[in-house]
Amino acid sequence: MPHAGSSPWNAYGPWLKERYGAPVHRISIDGGFTCPNRDGSKGRGGCTYCNVDSFVPATARRLPSISEQVALGARGILRRHGPGAKFILYFQANTNTYAPVEKLRALFEEALAAAPPGTVELAVGTRPDCLEPEKIDLLESYAERLTVTVELGLESMHDATLLRVNRGHSHADFLAACEALRGRRLGLGLHAMFGFPWESREEMLQTASVINKTPARFLKIHQLHVVEGSVMAAQYRREPFPLLEREAWAEFLAEFLPRLRADLVIQRVVASTFPRYLIAPEWAGDPSGALRFIRSFLLEKGVIQGSRAV
Ligand code: SF4
Repeated sequence: MPHAGSSPWNAYGPWLKERYGAPVHRISIDGGFTCPNRDGSKGRGGCTYCNVDSFVPATARRLPSISEQVALGARGILRRHGPGAKFILYFQANTNTYAPVEKLRALFEEALAAAPPGTVELAVGTRPDCLEPEKIDLLESYAERLTVTVELGLESMHDATLLRVNRGHSHADFLAACEALRGRRLGLGLHAMFGFPWESREEMLQTASVINKTPARFLKIHQLHVVEGSVMAAQYRREPFPLLEREAWAEFLAEFLPRLRADLVIQRVVASTFPRYLIAPEWAGDPSGALRFIRSFLLEKGVIQGSRAV
């Protein structure tokens, strides 16, 4: 196991470095999409915990063109990290396959045409209910040129939660999307969220076996936090509800990580947001400190991802 001894989980940063031989940085791109649970086709207001502005950099928003975003993103990375950096083109904001396939083709190709030398991957964040076969074919057609990864929101495996947070799709939709991606030349990354106050520890832990059975290669594990501008922010202000404290989050990870497949590459164990958007919990405002705490907590407990995979 590549992570044994040094990290309790199979961490993304070292994995990227080993695969590409250099630090790899994401150029975040906003393709001007919306989400079906925002525009009225499946609902209004989006997922109750979401405010896209809280996690997508301003450099990737409200710019006139995709190529300008790519150029600006690449310049910033080169300025900060010097030459030799490699890049991932990351369609991040909203649902990046929620448009007719010809429009998607135009957007992705504009990004690829503007990609700086050293671009190794195209990553596209989306929802399970917006991945029709022709869109999967389109994404797969780029796998001739570079690695292509689809990032899919699992969020919760419990339909009652999906309903309550206004996701606008079911867990069955998630499973169907994973199966549609199986065997394709596409990497699959999942995004799962834990700490909904109405989900029990057992209900949260069950998710490991669902994830293990998908063809996913990557996983982001996020704690629930409340951000300004979300529907949940108003709910929280009206009636505050319990959120996991840092210690409780580390304890959850100590139980969850061993249940995961050892070969899953973990992209995140702490969700971060721009500080001005964070309402609660307070510890989420210091993701680096939280990460240090979690790593030493898990090392002390001898936690190893995959040691009790379910
Ligand atoms: S979490 Fe994703 S699907 Fe939900 S509203 Fe935000 S961007 Fe859209």
